[in-house]
Amino acid sequence: GSSAETREFQAETRQLLRLVIHSIYSNKDIFLRELISNASDALDKLRLESLTDSSLGEIDTTDLHISLEVDRDARTLTVRDNGIGMSRDDLVELIGTIAKSGTAELLEKIKESKDAAAAENLIGQFGVGFYSAFMVADEVTVRTRRAGTDSGTQWQSSGEGVYTIEEVDGLPVGTSVTLHLKPADSEDGLADYLSESKIRQIVKQYSDFIRWPIRMATERTGTDGASSREVDTLNSMKALWARSRSEVTEDEYNEFYQQISHDWLPPAETIHMRAEGTFEYEALLFIPSQAPFDLFSRETKRGVQLYVKRVFIMDDCEALMPNYLRFVKGVVDAHDLSLNVSREILQHDRQIRGVRRRLVKKVLGAIKTMQTKDAERYAKVWSQFGRALKEGLLEDTDNTEALLELVSAASTHDPEKPTTLRQYVERMKDGQETIYYLTGETRAMVENSPHMEAFTAKGYEVLILTDPIDEVWVDQVRSFDGHPLQSIAKGQVDLDGSAEDSQETDADKAQREQDFAALLPWLTATLSEQVKQVRLSSRLTTSAACIVGDAHDVTPTLEKMYRAMGQ
Ligand code: ADP
Ligand code: MG
Repeated sequence: GSSAETREFQAETRQLLRLVIHSIYSNKDIFLRELISNASDALDKLRLESLTDSSLGEIDTTDLHISLEVDRDARTLTVRDNGIGMSRDDLVELIGTIAKSGTAELLEKIKESKDAAAAENLIGQFGVGFYSAFMVADEVTVRTRRAGTDSGTQWQSSGEGVYTIEEVDGLPVGTSVTLHLKPADSEDGLADYLSESKIRQIVKQYSDFIRWPIRMATERTGTDGASSREVDTLNSMKALWARSRSEVTEDEYNEFYQQISHDWLPPAETIHMRAEGTFEYEALLFIPSQAPFDLFSRETKRGVQLYVKRVFIMDDCEALMPNYLRFVKGVVDAHDLSLNVSREILQHDRQIRGVRRRLVKKVLGAIKTMQTKDAERYAKVWSQFGRALKEGLLEDTDNTEALLELVSAASTHDPEKPTTLRQYVERMKDGQETIYYLTGETRAMVENSPHMEAFTAKGYEVLILTDPIDEVWVDQVRSFDGHPLQSIAKGQVDLDGSAEDSQETDADKAQREQDFAALLPWLTATLSEQVKQVRLSSRLTTSAACIVGDAHDVTPTLEKMYRAMGQ
């Protein structure tokens, strides 16, 4: 073509590519999984558009597939699909830039991380996608033509700062990604990716459940010594969720999870269910064992995909999973929906709301079961997703009780071990009705708070809540199992019904108010930026003043949290 152009990668992309090329990621094999997953997405998109969008014109979707081609002489491996393809603008936007939020912060963290394993961990959570090709290739060429358009585009880069892009004629609809492979180097984790058996092994391991055929032409030597070319399908394409539980092994579940989540760890929990009757669906859900780095960024997507009768419809299906369970990954295949179903329709569909209610109950139930049957695993899940689950106490009032059963918090009872609210209640002193807690920025700050003294002295257990969101849910929820939740720093606290501060007579009080009549308005005016009101208190004994929260205030810690979340 005539319109060849050299462009620079966006700064963040350049940094990421440098990390990828200088191989901080030891599991290089995953590049193929990433390219196959992109090809599979492209086939899904074409199929869906051909079913729902007539503007694409005549498109043959009878033989959608992915093919892998090896050229030993040229040292190239090509991943080809006849899917949706990309326009020139798509290429610049999708491949030249990273839209993921938090990229800059992540890159900063990776640079700071001391050891390779920590860095790898971070990059694994981030997911490098297409760029992982540069782990194994010193040059990558993408040739692509968007369905419904006439001209194709070629994109080429060695991953070092720039890429070229030009128009090319005569390309079929779809995309091919050609990798010029670096030499095999076992020390560097670079296998021989020209080897047929290596390719088979990787596809089997990472992409077996891809629902489109992954084909490879192979040379066969017959008994007569003559060689012939044959095309093999390398993956089994089984829709795992459609099989019954007894037919699926744990390894298969784990591999499926790793394929859809791009995680490199097995999940903490697998939930596989089937609903029959008026609204049939199958669901296969996973609770990961580790939170993604961007769990608390605003744009974090939900991990549940919607299928209709095996046809992929959408990622990030918010109608099926509430925001606070955004970490749950998986697939829901609903049989009785239209392929044209939109997000708006789903949001208002009564049946879908029913499915969502049931899925939420299943997920919360699974964590509850973990809590009783496998405390260690529960503790890990809580440490990763507890903060997100606590958001549920604000969002999902239907499940308040179930969520409260899951809450785990530090406590003065045992400095080493967090407690559940249920365990706290079981340990309450005779006659104690209230669950006491104190919030603060750090555990040490809470433990050393003057408010704490009287409680520890009298043997009352106090929950130590240091998560910014704790301040919000305790105010919203108010009680657990009939026991009020009370901050020992707020309002009236009446220990044993005989707290010293309740012995003041009305006359004393009036006298005191008179003594401070001039000071209070002055303090209120002086501190007007910092506090709402300055009041006289009888609760303090040794300290001169303390800050008491208002139930509906946004506290400083919370403000900080919202800011961190970009709100
Ligand atoms: P992700 O798949 O998570 O979006 P990737 O880095 O893997 O991130 O890919 C970036 C984007 O490039 C994809 O979202 C897709 O829009 C586009 N893309 C990549 N490969 C293909 C392909 N084979 N066909 C069509 N589009 C593709
Ligand atoms: Mg991808």
